[in-house]
Amino acid sequence: MSEPLPTTTVAAALQQARQLGLDRLDAQILLSTALQRPRSWLLSHDQDALPPELADQFMAWAQRRAQGEPLAYLLGDKEFYGLTLRVSPDVLIPRPDTETLVDWALALIPTEPGFKVLDLGTGSGAIALALQHQRLQAQVTAVDACPAALAIAQANAQQLALPVENLQGSWFEPLAGRHFDLIVSNPPYIAENDEHMPALRFEPEQALTSGVDGLDDLRLIIAKAPLHLNAGGWLLLEHGHDQAAAVSSLLKMHGFGQVSTRLDLGGNPRCTGGKT
Ligand code: GLN
Repeated sequence: MSEPLPTTTVAAALQQARQLGLDRLDAQILLSTALQRPRSWLLSHDQDALPPELADQFMAWAQRRAQGEPLAYLLGDKEFYGLTLRVSPDVLIPRPDTETLVDWALALIPTEPGFKVLDLGTGSGAIALALQHQRLQAQVTAVDACPAALAIAQANAQQLALPVENLQGSWFEPLAGRHFDLIVSNPPYIAENDEHMPALRFEPEQALTSGVDGLDDLRLIIAKAPLHLNAGGWLLLEHGHDQAAAVSSLLKMHGFGQVSTRLDLGGNPRCTGGKT
């Protein structure tokens, strides 16, 4: 007589994941995703046996999560400004802090048609898509240097049926002769040797670091933006918690007025912008 195959219950699988060091919530999200059930279902079915292939998939995910891989990359999506966006390791995972930039931009975009918005370094398309979703009459253009990232941005635009124009190139490269009413960007802004980089090792380094002080791309964007802004146009930039003073003085140096800074959800100076 052969031994019955060992079975894993919902409760036992969650317990194993906890022993690997996973958060309770992360473990529940991964298991409910593997089972294609709502998280609430787990609670009322904790003694149900798991099909072995699903138990294996869940444990493989749990091990990757325990090694530090972000939940968004395991699930393949992330919520941002009320939209579900596809993400992969080719793009930065959209952060709630960036909603500060979206809120500020929305306050500047009229509801009438014709207003031209540019998102530089769009990654997953998060900022451009959030703006287009809130202001369907605006003409939103998004640029990214990385073809793999741009493919994700395009897939997200298609999935959400939002008419964002996606262009490949480095910063203003694909925009010769074009002008906008508002330019927004969450560029890489972390210093190359920043102590936080190991914690961000699963995300694309080119989306995170920018020279020894983290300001290389911000400097380039601020220097070139005036050539692509209509009179009275705005430039809004996300930056590191300790870069507001540097970004403000760069903006003033390049002729921007009404320069001001906004705080993120954690109370850190996170976005600085000005008007041409
Ligand atoms: N806000 C991100 C972080 O600190 C960095 C994003 C960026 O460099 N644009 O994790």
